[in-house]
Amino acid sequence: MATTTGDSVAAELPHIGTLTQAQVRGGACVWCAVMLRTTTAIDLGPREAEFHGTVARWFPRGCRSCTVQSAYLALLGHAQCCDQCEDDPARCEAGRRLRRAVREARR
Ligand SMILES: [Zn+2]
Ligand SMILES: [Zn+2]
Repeated sequence: MATTTGDSVAAELPHIGTLTQAQVRGGACVWCAVMLRTTTAIDLGPREAEFHGTVARWFPRGCRSCTVQSAYLALLGHAQCCDQCEDDPARCEAGRRLRRAVREARR
């Protein structure tokens, strides 16, 4: 029984309260704050964050090297605690998604 958040890159993001405007808007890498261009940015998918009692959607983006690293860590963490991946990685939906994210970010 896999427990997944359903994120395509299920890595830990910094808390939204610690980020700059540019990072929240997706203009800068959510981890290292480098300014992003559309050609170098990787979409991490919409997230929801609670802000003063209301839930806001935001669209974090990462630079290539941070995203590869975080997707890779997420994959390692997943593989360690996933029975399905130990059994047959090809049949684990969450594992497959993470491996794809690592592959795509490396391109
Ligand atoms: Zn970065
Ligand atoms: Zn798995």
